[in-house]
Amino acid sequence: AQHLLARAKEHQNLGAYLAFNEDLTLAQAQAADARIAAGERGPLLGVPLAHKDIFVTQGFPTTAGSKMLAGYQSPFDATVVSQLAAAGAVTLGKLNCDEFAMGSGNDNSAYAPVHNPWDTARVPGGSSGGSAAAVAARLVPAATGTDTGGSIRQPASFTGITGIKPTYGRCSRYGMVAFASSLDQAGPMARSAADCATLLSAMAGPDIDRDSTSLDHPAEDYTRLLGLAREGAMAAMPLKGLRIGLPTEFFGAGCAPDVLAAVRAALSEYEKLGATLVDISLPRTELSIPVYYIIAPAEASSNLSRFDGVKFGHRAAKFDDLADMYKKSRSEGFGPEVQRRIMIGTYVLSHGYYDAYYLKAQQIRRLIAQDFQQAFTQCDVIAGPVAPTVAWKIGEKSDDPVANYLADIYTLSTSLAGLPGMSVPAGFGAANMPVGLQLVGNYFKEGELLQTAHAFQ
Ligand code: GLN
Repeated sequence: AQHLLARAKEHQNLGAYLAFNEDLTLAQAQAADARIAAGERGPLLGVPLAHKDIFVTQGFPTTAGSKMLAGYQSPFDATVVSQLAAAGAVTLGKLNCDEFAMGSGNDNSAYAPVHNPWDTARVPGGSSGGSAAAVAARLVPAATGTDTGGSIRQPASFTGITGIKPTYGRCSRYGMVAFASSLDQAGPMARSAADCATLLSAMAGPDIDRDSTSLDHPAEDYTRLLGLAREGAMAAMPLKGLRIGLPTEFFGAGCAPDVLAAVRAALSEYEKLGATLVDISLPRTELSIPVYYIIAPAEASSNLSRFDGVKFGHRAAKFDDLADMYKKSRSEGFGPEVQRRIMIGTYVLSHGYYDAYYLKAQQIRRLIAQDFQQAFTQCDVIAGPVAPTVAWKIGEKSDDPVANYLADIYTLSTSLAGLPGMSVPAGFGAANMPVGLQLVGNYFKEGELLQTAHAFQ
């Protein structure tokens, strides 16, 4: 812990960390030592981790990357945080992210942009960009992230690490600052599928008394299938019988040739391991962008209404009356992307527009989920790129929200369907930047996804 704290501080120019509490970290490390000395053993006992600043934590400030929550100290830990702590993990600090997890480049953080360790002129992806950069730069062995529309998978892809978003409802949302509640999901970001499996085993599980969308499904050991051949397969061809579906919509002209080349090279390795590739279709892929960018802002506009400067959040120093206080506090506290989404969300939920936008989006969301179920009759796992390009230059898309939204094309549909998805390092593309392979499984198939990823690593 001491070594990694020093290393994190030495590399503060990456912008990955937002807060430390050295005394608390060292006290946690000592407590883990005492548990080890007493004979306790466990894969996370004494392992240093860091949390995306969207998880509330006792003893560290929680800002969600926003000025709105500057200086906020939570009186309790998020369930994911307390479950990792119970397993003996030591918290090194809080990691930078896009404001309220809205973004794809981590350039929407109110504090500092995060730099990609592979090329510091480029973004690390977002919104879990601090988590991705910290793991990729070896400032921490693993970190937590959250994924609403790709925020674990895309930064993992941009920084050459492994990340998994489990089935919606698998990890508790209790203590996760809410962005879009029907999509938000926590997951681990680490160097390998094996490390992700170890973390996810501690993070996931029912929390039905505190999160009404938590799935009442017993906790699992996600490491159980690692290194095992599939049923009926031999060790030399461990993935024999695995059908990997390639959606034609993910391999078209919209994806950069360098990214496609890296993804195809990874897929041919899978063939050598015994898997077969089958062509499938996810015909509504293109619609996932407008559908997501209606549903997510709608839910965000409702969730963020709590930041009124009275019960929660920044309060303007000077104001005339109550309405003026709300207006000034919210204008000062929220950054431009968050304000844009509150306005879009309020618009699509308003009387006269609800049916045309919000309701329509919900109907198409259902069809998108059905397309996946249709696809899973033809394959066991779906694979493709995570993002259409490698990490772009910092600033390149900052003034163009639509360009950011379009770059989410391959991750949004999985989120809308609530399916588990992961990013596995596939190779390198343009400018020698990392490229991730996306693997998507059916509900509760995290164990099989991690097994598939591990076989390639
Ligand atoms: N890039 C997407 C957005 O801006 C996804 C973010 C996320 O998954 N939190 O909404």
